[in-house]
Amino acid sequence: MLDFIIGYLRRVGLTFQRPQTTSAEMVPDEAQLRIVIVGAGLSGLATAISCAMAGHTVVVIEQAKELAEVGAGLQITPNASRLFQHWQLPSSLYASAAEPTALTVHKYTGQTLAHSPSFHTTIRAKYTSPFIDLHRVDLQQALYARAKALGVTFHLDERVDSLDFATTTVRTVSGRAVPGDLIVAADGLWSRCRECFLGRKDDPLPTGDLAYRIVLRAEDIRDEKLRTWVENPECHFWIGPGAHAVGYSMRGGSMYNLVLLVPDNLPPGVARQVGSVEEMRGLFEGWDPVLNQFLSYVDSVDKWKLMHHAEMETWVNEKSNLVFIGDACHPMLPYLAQGANSSLEDGAVLGGLLGYMKTKSQLPEILRLYESMRKSRGEAIVKETFKQRNDFHMCDGPEQERRDHIFLSQLGKEIKGAFPSRWTCPEVQPWLYGYDALKEVEKAVRLHPEVFSKVTPNL
Ligand SMILES: Cc1cc2nc3c(=O)[nH]c(=O)nc-3n(C[C@H](O)[C@H](O)[C@H](O)COP(=O)(O)OP(=O)(O)OC[C@H]3O[C@@H](n4cnc5c(N)ncnc54)[C@H](O)[C@@H]3O)c2cc1C
Repeated sequence: MLDFIIGYLRRVGLTFQRPQTTSAEMVPDEAQLRIVIVGAGLSGLATAISCAMAGHTVVVIEQAKELAEVGAGLQITPNASRLFQHWQLPSSLYASAAEPTALTVHKYTGQTLAHSPSFHTTIRAKYTSPFIDLHRVDLQQALYARAKALGVTFHLDERVDSLDFATTTVRTVSGRAVPGDLIVAADGLWSRCRECFLGRKDDPLPTGDLAYRIVLRAEDIRDEKLRTWVENPECHFWIGPGAHAVGYSMRGGSMYNLVLLVPDNLPPGVARQVGSVEEMRGLFEGWDPVLNQFLSYVDSVDKWKLMHHAEMETWVNEKSNLVFIGDACHPMLPYLAQGANSSLEDGAVLGGLLGYMKTKSQLPEILRLYESMRKSRGEAIVKETFKQRNDFHMCDGPEQERRDHIFLSQLGKEIKGAFPSRWTCPEVQPWLYGYDALKEVEKAVRLHPEVFSKVTPNL
């Protein structure tokens, strides 16, 4: 309806300022795109916000009846948290988060291998933005509300079935046809858009691991020492043969999120299944008593197969009316907590670049630029997550002893050189957390006058 009114006012020569749109780079009318985003996951919502802030018309199509991300935690690192202010997400989002004040890696026996005290202050000082742990729903709802306030249209309960590239139209199973100028494939691991683009079935591949996802409430934890652990947010890893566990507080220390990463024993083709609590506890028998104490509070659990995909040749189709973002093009192991963070970066870069459009004819070159900025980074992060698995899942033996020697030789000191935990590794953490999507956009605009100068000669 809003689009119709804006269109009518434009036709009769009146202009209409979109509600709460603040980007300095509002595109002129002749460059305004109608962008159809498939999927309202974190990548789709981020793209919706940044494209709407740039002044484009945005429609999101989502198969779910309502937006309710899985009830689990999410670690947001500075490369994504720095975007929240730009997107004007409400400060209440921070109130519902927890900021870990230390990050510790334990051997599965409980022995401390690495410990970063004052993790929160160090991270803020290095990257000018916090590392926070959130409940997924809190972030999703904040993004959704912001997108709606920016005038984004949502079609929920609509499953996309096919894409017509000749007319840039998205068709849903129910028969709805949504035309546009650009389709953004944000439909995750089981992307239908990816299949439409490739022209064949393309199921994700098993990584060999699965995840148990657990959320505990502090009020349900009777043991005082354990409850204090939850109420004072820190981030803990336990690493052992073929498996690891990560635990952190969220919602200001009133909830605890635990993820257990273990060898996949789900049948082929099964992506998620109710798990057995006994089987889960059995896998961690003999591990740190603190971890086992947490597991004693679990009364039901789900198992999630962790999947990935081979790299795509390109993220943009030949006609330049389809572009990929998020898990649809770079699904990864969650071992560096970068899947959502890098998806939010994708959305910020795509919308940021599209904010510099002065005519629609620039779209093909801008999409190529987006791909050149994002594909190599996304794929590098994917590779790093598999390297992290190797370092965290070592079986006891000479290789593990060498790893532990590197850990222990730096315990209590400033970490130098390659480090087996990339979470604090001085060679990996800076390129993960130091990335500033908005600055990257500005840099790209400066460095690519062939794309932008003909329409922005003063850059
Ligand atoms: C155990 C675990 C822990 C993790 N922890 C972290 C973490 O701490 N930090 C982090 O950054 N990342 C983490 N991740 C990764 C992160 O969850 C994903 O990378 C991220 O959610 C991907 O977002 P997305 O929007 O690309 O895809 P999705 O979240 O999968 O969203 C895709 C959306 O598209 C919709 N859709 C799909 N097909 C269709 C269709 N045909 N028609 C219409 N709609 C459709 C879906 O319903 C969904 O809403 C974790 C992952 C796992 C498994």
